Amino acid sequence: MAMAVALFAWPAFAAAPVVIKDVRLSSGPDSTRVVFDVSGKLAPAVSVLHDPERVVIDLPNAQFKSRAFAMPEGQGLARSLRAATTDKKAQRIVINVSQAVEPKSFHVPPSGPSGHRIVLDLLPIATAAATPVVPAAPRVVKSLPVNADRDIVIAIDAGHGGEDPGASGRRGTREKDVTLAIARLLKTRIDNEPGMRAVLTRDGDYFLPLRERINRARKLQADMFVSVHADAVRDRSVRGSSVYVLSARGASNEAAKWLADQENAADLIGGVSLGGKDEVLKSVLLDLSQGASMSASTEAADKVLEQLDRIGNVHKQSVQNAGFVVLKSPDIPSMLVETAFISNVEEEARLSDARHQQRLAEAIHAGVRSYFTANPPPGTAFSKSMANDRLVQNGPASAPVAGVR
Ligand SMILES: [Zn+2]
Repeated sequence: MAMAVALFAWPAFAAAPVVIKDVRLSSGPDSTRVVFDVSGKLAPAVSVLHDPERVVIDLPNAQFKSRAFAMPEGQGLARSLRAATTDKKAQRIVINVSQAVEPKSFHVPPSGPSGHRIVLDLLPIATAAATPVVPAAPRVVKSLPVNADRDIVIAIDAGHGGEDPGASGRRGTREKDVTLAIARLLKTRIDNEPGMRAVLTRDGDYFLPLRERINRARKLQADMFVSVHADAVRDRSVRGSSVYVLSARGASNEAAKWLADQENAADLIGGVSLGGKDEVLKSVLLDLSQGASMSASTEAADKVLEQLDRIGNVHKQSVQNAGFVVLKSPDIPSMLVETAFISNVEEEARLSDARHQQRLAEAIHAGVRSYFTANPPPGTAFSKSMANDRLVQNGPASAPVAGVR
């Protein structure tokens, strides 16, 4: 077997070796990413060794940029890295890891200023095993003690991060930084609102796959998911905020589709491989989403758009539909807010201005609050105060207020 493979692997005229230009590490709370900047396509072979735990990556037909190439310091789950060259034309890199990991590797084609990359994600075994491949059945009613006033939970998703910077402005403002700043301000505001609590899907500059963003919100049983982004188009005069909800039939127009491709491209960069199951998962999620959470999403998005309209110009006067992956939670009303156009010089400046970031956070918060005041989920302090209001208005005979789902 090995012989046969070797015969095919070595053609008569061997191609010029791919150059390994750089090796970079980044780590988030749940995973560590090793990125190899390479000069062309490579098919790495990744294996795991135990006692001690190691991940071995073999790069056939590859060479380091120079003989003095220095491996980066270890971080996160990767304690240390070393090159263990087996051949002039093949490189082996051994990564000592701090615990048992599941490695996932994939190739990222050149995009923008970045060339070919090989990405190796190290995920702790426990985390990898806990991630369900197929989503659980949608939850209709939250199982909570009747008397407990639970908080309304808002999952705030700062778009992009780490390896994926999102869009960039002319002055170099990066979408991933702006979205995180606004997300943090929004969290503070929501946390100060009695009966509400916010959770950030990411709270730092690290990469988070789109599906993981959804998974986190679902694990938290969030009542709403708000993804914060900044728009970009070639035409630098275009400006204003937009709010998107999922379109059941995919993107509703060409512009929305283009934008959806832009945002969804992050999944390619992130590339946690769901393999062939991805398509099935997508369609399952899409089918499940055509329910109550769709209309709830639109209603809430309307309120947010209304608030954004008050603080500045909106790009479109109505809520838009697009097939953004992060909007595909089957059971959580979800919206994606394109706060402004980072491609517009004036809006780029506003996006990096702390006061304007605060105004945007205020507007999103006000929209979300207004939605939940009108549609309080059962068992929350919001539903209690609504019920009390009605008692005062209508007397004790009024029926209890029904929740959104
Ligand atoms: Zn974005």
